[in-house]
Amino acid sequence: MSIVLVVNSGSSSFKYQLIDMDREATLASGLVERIGEPVASVTHKTGGETFAREADIPDHTRGFEAMLEGFEEHGPSLAEFPPVVVGHRVVHGGRRFFDAAVIDGKVLQDIEDLIPLAPLHNPANLEGIVGARDVFAETPHVAVFDTAFHTTMSEASSLYALDAEVAKEHRVRKYGAHGTSHKFVSEETARFLERDLDQLKTIVLHIGNGASMCAVDGGRSVETSMGMTPLEGLVMGTRTGDLDPAVLVHLSRRGGYTIDQLDDLLNRKSGLLGLTGSGDMRDVRQKANAGDERAQLGLAVYTHRIRHYLGAYMLLVGGADAIVFTAGIGENDAQLRADVLEGLEWLGVKLSPERNESPSRDARRISADDSRIEVLVVPTNEELEIARQSLAAIA
Ligand code: ADP
Repeated sequence: MSIVLVVNSGSSSFKYQLIDMDREATLASGLVERIGEPVASVTHKTGGETFAREADIPDHTRGFEAMLEGFEEHGPSLAEFPPVVVGHRVVHGGRRFFDAAVIDGKVLQDIEDLIPLAPLHNPANLEGIVGARDVFAETPHVAVFDTAFHTTMSEASSLYALDAEVAKEHRVRKYGAHGTSHKFVSEETARFLERDLDQLKTIVLHIGNGASMCAVDGGRSVETSMGMTPLEGLVMGTRTGDLDPAVLVHLSRRGGYTIDQLDDLLNRKSGLLGLTGSGDMRDVRQKANAGDERAQLGLAVYTHRIRHYLGAYMLLVGGADAIVFTAGIGENDAQLRADVLEGLEWLGVKLSPERNESPSRDARRISADDSRIEVLVVPTNEELEIARQSLAAIA
C-alpha cells in the first residue's frame, strides 16, 4: 500500500491531502488556518464529510499535531494508512533543483538560499517542512518544486536582455511557475490521446486566478509565460502580467510611487481586478453579459494576451498536436475557450460548440472530429502530481 501525505504550506496556514497511490484516490484532505493568531481553525474532510473546529495553534508543528488529531478523531487512521512519504510543495527551486528532492540538511539549506527569489513563499514552505518533520520524524520528506519542470528551457528562452553581470549577480532570469500543473496536464494529455509523450507537442493553458501558459515538446517545457516571478505573462486575477518595465520608472518619477506601492499595484490591484473592478472571472463574466462595458473591455484584454502567447508557442514548437485548457477558468469557462480559439480554423483548430459547452469534471476533447489540432480540457491536480513525484523520489 502506497500512502502519500501532500503538504502545501503558507506562512500562516497549510493544506494537506492523504492519497492512496494504488488507486490515486484521496482518503482525506484538510486545511489548518490562522496559525499564530489568537484563534486558529482546523478543517478535516473525509468520506464526504467536513469537520471544522477552532484551536490554539502557535506554530506549524502544533498545526501538524492538530492535523493528526483530526485523523484520529474522524479517520482514516494513520496507523492503518501510514504515509510512506510526505511530499511538500516548494515554490522556488532556482537553478539548483531540476527534479523533486528527498529533504536533508543540504536541501533545506538550498531552499533557504533561494529565499531572495521567492521572499514570501520559500520561508512559508520551509515552515511547513520543519513542522511536518517534527511530527513525521521517521518518514522521508520530499520537496517538489514549482520551477523544476521549466529547467529544461533553453538559455534563449530563459535569459532577459539585461546587463549580463547584473543578471548574474542577482540571479535574474526566467524560472517560470505552475510547473507541477503543466507537467501533470501534459502527461495526462498524452494518456488521454493514447499518444507517446516523447512524440507529443502540447500547449497548456493554465488559466486560474494565477495564469500561465507552457509549450511542452516531448514532455519537456520549452517556454512558459511566467518569468523570474509569477507576475510576467498573462493577465491574471489581480496581476498585470506583461508590462513595459519603463511604466515602473514613469510611475515612480511622475506618480511618486514607492517600491512597496508598485509591488502592491502590480501584484494585487491590477489584472482583471484593475481592469474591471472584480478579480473573479465569474463576476466579470456576469457583468460583461449584463452589458458592462468595462468588464467587456477587460475580457478583451485578457483574451488578446492569451492569443498572443498561443500564436508564439505554436511557432516555437513548430505546430502543436494539442491545445489544453486547465485550472478554474480554463476548466469551467466555455466562453473564454471559444473566444481564445475563435477564427483559428486556418490553423487547424476547430472547436465543437456542443462539446465545449457540456460541463464535466473529467478530461475531455472539445474540438470537432475534423479539427487537425486536438483541443482538450484536462483538470489539473497538483496534489496528485506532488504525490507521484514524491513516491518516485524515494523509489
Ligand atoms: P488559483 O490560481 O487560486 O488556484 P483557480 O484555478 O481555483 O485559481 O481559479 C479561480 C478562478 O476560476 C476564479 O477567477 C473563478 O472565478 C474562476 N472560475 C471558477 N469556476 C468558474 C466558472 N464556472 N466559470 C468561470 N470562471 C470560473
